[in-house]
Amino acid sequence: MNHKGYEHCTLCPRNCCVNRLKGRTGFCGESADVRIAWAGIHYGEEPVITGKNGSGTIFFTGCTLQCTFCQNYQLSGSRIGSVVTAGELSDIMLGLEKMNAENINLVTGTHFIPHIVDAVERARKKGLGIPIVWNTSGFEKEESLILLKNTVDIFLTDLKSLSVKASLNLFKAALYPEIAAEAAGSMIDMKSLKMYDKRMVRGVILRHLVIPGALESTYEILKLFKDRWYKRAVLSLMFQFIPVDTHRGTKESETGIPGMLSADEYSAVTDYLFKLEIDDGFMQEFSESDEWMPDFKKHNPFPRDMAKPLWHFTGGYNVR
Ligand code: SF4
Repeated sequence: MNHKGYEHCTLCPRNCCVNRLKGRTGFCGESADVRIAWAGIHYGEEPVITGKNGSGTIFFTGCTLQCTFCQNYQLSGSRIGSVVTAGELSDIMLGLEKMNAENINLVTGTHFIPHIVDAVERARKKGLGIPIVWNTSGFEKEESLILLKNTVDIFLTDLKSLSVKASLNLFKAALYPEIAAEAAGSMIDMKSLKMYDKRMVRGVILRHLVIPGALESTYEILKLFKDRWYKRAVLSLMFQFIPVDTHRGTKESETGIPGMLSADEYSAVTDYLFKLEIDDGFMQEFSESDEWMPDFKKHNPFPRDMAKPLWHFTGGYNVR
């Protein structure tokens, strides 16, 4: 495996330039030892990803963006997880395929790209045949996307905000709008849409989580999608914003976000979609529940009918 990417780390736009091989950590908080928190079948992704048998999902520890409202804050902030080698990671992928997973869904793996490329290559040599999904915040460098081009089949990417001010406030990344929009364009150029039996086997899903009190940014993103990428990628609009700073024990007001999305905001966004004549893609139903919030300390972090565990950071494969 080529470890070079970790030596003077510029794997993501933070460009920390730290030597992770010597145990140093940058913004993502992780050294060159890959850590994961959970692997299993997940039934809660978009229907073309979940398919009939669920998505074989692997959650990586640490994050290059660290949104203040991250629903996976136990991984991005508290950074729970255990070290696995590239060989172990490839075995987990094969284990997920054995459980009939529709694909391998790699959640927030940007800071471990060298290991992940190696692990997928090993798994493919041993017969892994299902598509690889790169599930990302969208904060990706062109160079990293090139590294992933032959490894990944589907990009499941976020476009969270086009506001510089909000990006600085929420992700400490004023360059997020420019970088994420450019990355989304590159992903769409790289992976044209291909479906088989109602499942996506290649392509890009562009996700946007509507943030309460920031609808102007949502409108801007929807307009950009319609003008540049409609029919070349699939839009997935999400309404499940939870002010998780509360769960962390900090004040909601620190994020500047006024709690959960209101029913009026939901209607305003759906009206705008209608006005733009965006008539395909995916849209979550409006809900004020936070029951789906994962708790990665549990062997099954999700509601029971939403997931089937294979591996957990506390005991490896011994999960029930
Ligand atoms: S991957 Fe981590 S260490 Fe490397 S540049 Fe990004 S945040 Fe910094």
